[in-house]
Amino acid sequence: MADSYPPLLRRIRDEGHSIGTHTQDHPLKTLSVERMKREIDDGIESVGRALGNPSEVAPFFRFPGLIHPVPAEDYLASKRIMVWSVDLVADDWRRISPDQVLKRALIRLEKRGRGILLLHDIQRRTTLALPRLLAALKAQNYHVVHVVPAASGVGDSGQLMGEVGSRL
Ligand SMILES: [Zn+2]
Repeated sequence: MADSYPPLLRRIRDEGHSIGTHTQDHPLKTLSVERMKREIDDGIESVGRALGNPSEVAPFFRFPGLIHPVPAEDYLASKRIMVWSVDLVADDWRRISPDQVLKRALIRLEKRGRGILLLHDIQRRTTLALPRLLAALKAQNYHVVHVVPAASGVGDSGQLMGEVGSRL
């Protein structure tokens, strides 16, 4: 995605967002340790290249399919990259309507009270649901948090501020 849409990545950066990575080719099955390392490194390199500055890649990573192989976790830790998972999903990769994405996100968030909500920006249903989701979160007094590295860039320590989605 970074290789295909570098201007979009720069726009996301310019609008103030942190950009982490998610592997180069999004492999979902078990890989050799060497291949895993390459997937991680290539993903970081692609995002750094798209941004025009490798130090602007946030030291944040999410595993494809939320599968966390221990050797890959160890490798990320050795690079001081923080691994993120999720607390709830809105099933936005399934064939459901934008309304259903919105409904599932809000119901599950309500049940839990707060948490990291997984959404996929490549899904049209998600982009259609997002303005209403953000408006609903605001109306219900949720606090949407932007997580930033304590010092910017891969290789620096990835400490964070704040709590995602906690209610005021
Ligand atoms: Zn993914």
